[in-house]
Amino acid sequence: MSTTNPHTKPWRNWSGAVRFTPRNFAKPHSIPQLQSLVREVGARNGQLRVVGSGHSFTPLVQTPDTLVSLENLSGIESVDGHIGHIYAGTSLKPLGIELARRGFGMTNLGDINKQALAGAVSTGTHGTGASLGSISTQIRGMDLVLASGEAIHCSATENAEIFDAARVCVGALGVIAKLDIELQPAYRLKLIKRAMDLDDCLAQAPDLARLYRHFEFYWIPHTRRTLVKLMDWTAEPESARGMTTAAELLIENGAFGVASRLARMNPDWAPGIARFIGNVTKSDESTMVADCHRAFSTTRLVRFQEMEYELPVERGPDALRELAEHIQRKQVRVHFPVEYRYVAADDIWLSPFYQRDAVAISVHQYVGMAHQEYFAAAEAIFRNHGGRPHWGKMHNLAERELSELYPRWNDFQRVRKQLDPKGMFSNALLRRWFGD
Ligand SMILES: Cc1cc2nc3c(=O)[nH]c(=O)nc-3n(C[C@H](O)[C@H](O)[C@H](O)COP(=O)(O)OP(=O)(O)OC[C@H]3O[C@@H](n4cnc5c(N)ncnc54)[C@H](O)[C@@H]3O)c2cc1C
Repeated sequence: MSTTNPHTKPWRNWSGAVRFTPRNFAKPHSIPQLQSLVREVGARNGQLRVVGSGHSFTPLVQTPDTLVSLENLSGIESVDGHIGHIYAGTSLKPLGIELARRGFGMTNLGDINKQALAGAVSTGTHGTGASLGSISTQIRGMDLVLASGEAIHCSATENAEIFDAARVCVGALGVIAKLDIELQPAYRLKLIKRAMDLDDCLAQAPDLARLYRHFEFYWIPHTRRTLVKLMDWTAEPESARGMTTAAELLIENGAFGVASRLARMNPDWAPGIARFIGNVTKSDESTMVADCHRAFSTTRLVRFQEMEYELPVERGPDALRELAEHIQRKQVRVHFPVEYRYVAADDIWLSPFYQRDAVAISVHQYVGMAHQEYFAAAEAIFRNHGGRPHWGKMHNLAERELSELYPRWNDFQRVRKQLDPKGMFSNALLRRWFGD
């Protein structure tokens, strides 16, 4: 029985910027079925890309041939001690709920919970916390289906080189079928949100990053306002959820959609809209307690395009000041906040956090508004400060520039060529990054 289905409907990513129609769209129900599919595509020298939940901003999963979703390969297989064996297609939200039911939580998460676990891992998705690595650092083992159709297990002690290459590999080495994740006993977090002046915030940032398990802030362009989020363990009971601050009402709510549509109708209004948001949020302060699987994620009602670079931690403040100065001087038509987070160093070959503690600075633009000039200027600043781009977000680098940013680039390429000699798991974007 064929495991592929002819597919005629166009596929689109979350932001809507990537649209294409694959020849086949497959949703295997088991690992043996996934292996047969890979063998079938390999036998005809075809191409195959895996999609998680389509939340990457670039044509990472685009393919003219076979697109595979593992949505039917999802759920918790088992939990042994503090290691969860999780199917790769599991979506983070139901995963968090089910782990909490069993008394566990993930160490850290990004600011949404819509991704598939393997999708999040494959691009080095991260949250914030100076002592906490990306989600990929929570992985202790992985089942990978190779181009030959063979399924292998890798970990720090078994196929260790493949493990170092595969924990962030944008689907270039094979199909991740299952992941072993180190879990925490379920915990609760107290979230404090407050508005701060940009200079005060940058001056206090090193202390806040050290004192709180999680610290991040949003800077509102065209203003000196930041909206700070601090989170730490607590034994206090969960509080009722609700919107309490102007920022929550404006930015995490439909009102931001209205403001964004106004900005798109007349981009010259964008700086004024940003200043309005800065003004109404100036005395924001709120506190909330939530179980860990609920504490991290926010709802993103307004669609945007995004670029993010991970900079050496000590370069972050100057990079942000230069970006603020550029936006002011050029009166850049943007009202979306700039996000600033902390991520700890790791040892994963293609992780943007490889061997260095970093701040992640993200710039956003509302869908349908021009982002190219703004992102190009931000990219020049980030690169000048030694930044490495987020693998799931927009950037303009190709193989030569990328290879200079990663000390283990050649090792990754060696493993990639060994596991996928015919480039079955490649596509146009990956050829730009890794060559043939
Ligand atoms: C609203 C929004 C908020 C976001 N917030 C954050 C954040 O807080 N922090 C952050 O770091 N990023 C964030 N991102 C980026 C996002 O987490 C990454 O782009 C992530 O990779 C998307 O996961 P996905 O499941 O949608 O994967 P996709 O975008 O579908 O795929 C991503 C990559 O993973 C590969 N892949 C997926 N499944 C498999 C598999 N089983 N085997 C092999 N390869 C596979 C794909 O081929 C592709 O290369 C955000 C994105 C959006 C749209």
